[in-house]
Amino acid sequence: MRLKTRLIHGGIDGDPATGAVSVPIYQVSTYKQEAIGKHKGFEYSRTGNPTRHALETYIAEIEGGARGLAFGSGMAALSTILSMFDKGDHIVVGDDVYGGTYRVVTRVFLRQGLEATFVDTSDLAAVEAAIRPETKAIIMETPTNPLLKVSDIAALAKIAKSKGVLLAVDNTFMTPYWQNPLDLGADIVYHSATKYLGGHSDVVAGLVVTKDAQLGEDLHFLQNAIGGILGPQDSWLLLRGMKTLGIRMEEHEENTRTLAKWLSERKDIERVIYPGLENHPGHELIKKQARGFGGMISFDVGSAARAEEVLAKVKWFTLAESLGAVESLISVPARMTHASIPAERRAELGITDGLVRISVGIEDVQDLIEDLEQALS
Ligand SMILES: *Cc1c(COP(=O)(O)O)cnc(C)c1O
Repeated sequence: MRLKTRLIHGGIDGDPATGAVSVPIYQVSTYKQEAIGKHKGFEYSRTGNPTRHALETYIAEIEGGARGLAFGSGMAALSTILSMFDKGDHIVVGDDVYGGTYRVVTRVFLRQGLEATFVDTSDLAAVEAAIRPETKAIIMETPTNPLLKVSDIAALAKIAKSKGVLLAVDNTFMTPYWQNPLDLGADIVYHSATKYLGGHSDVVAGLVVTKDAQLGEDLHFLQNAIGGILGPQDSWLLLRGMKTLGIRMEEHEENTRTLAKWLSERKDIERVIYPGLENHPGHELIKKQARGFGGMISFDVGSAARAEEVLAKVKWFTLAESLGAVESLISVPARMTHASIPAERRAELGITDGLVRISVGIEDVQDLIEDLEQALS
């Protein structure tokens, strides 16, 4: 089955009991047992729910892994992954990861005795040097947020394997439509499904897929023990959203390429960051490991004041955090998604005050261009 067909018919296709074409919303917490311990595979909905199970089976198949797990948010998914580690264990984390990832590692898990080193994962030697005997995992994103730096998943998987550590990749920006980290050697792929997978700004969710069944079992133990599960309504919404992932990603991609080219031809913009542009340092690498470049562009308008002006003037770009929905969104990372990162660290990373990030939607690209034109001039 090819990917576009898998997106429609993958996982559990409809409801075998009634013939319903869409998996029903099993709005239920517990299940009748015929005798003690004798049931139809479901006992209690924190442990397992048929709608969530359909979603978990579906994402595992789409990402090419053994086990899928659905959580109440991307951060709940990541926190459950991080709960595999003990006090004194060490992890290597990308230095340009999602702000909430940085926050949960530094302000929650470090407090509990986990140790972490933040490194630029596009620098393989730096990653290798950061690995210690106590290191248990490398946690990374590619492309990163908001600087869209590209890291070599296959090379990092090789390093991880040689050192006996797990490689976990946040695949939120690319989605399984463009990039499959498990095929490149990663052990865990996870998503903020709130973004492209949901696609319609109507659900907050997280998904995890493991390559290996035992690792999936270990994470299911933690999912059930900690309880950060996705409810049946949201599981259903996500299943519904993901059916159109293919056509949405194609449209996002085409609009993004057009806008990136248009922005890079303007003289009043200092830098345009998009991995689909040939001048992007990660362009060749992303072509090698992914089938597309994604729908995110960052560009520097020069100052915080101009960024504020642009954001105030745009009409079709909604001023909001988040990304990956059908509607175009615009934000200033330094003051929004990355505000939880200290100012000196933002400066070090290159997240300047004039940096504007857009998540390109699937509107008519001509309207998007005209809108940015009037906002920039
Ligand atoms: C949004 C986001 C997250 C966090 O996911 P939530 O669903 O908001 O909890 C993690 N990683 C990336 C790359 C994100 O964009």
